[in-house]
Amino acid sequence: MTCEHCRNLLFEYIEGLVEDPQRSPLEGHLQGCEACRQEEQALEACSHV
Ligand SMILES: [Zn+2]
Repeated sequence: MTCEHCRNLLFEYIEGLVEDPQRSPLEGHLQGCEACRQEEQALEACSHV
């Protein structure tokens, strides 16, 4: 999972639309990549407005 791939999936991920087999590597990447984790939190904050 690259950062670019991760970012492409984040929009769907925060909507709960990403399922296995993509979900596990995505969550693994988020745990190990602070940049993508911050991106996820920023998107999530936007989506809840
Ligand atoms: Zn990343």
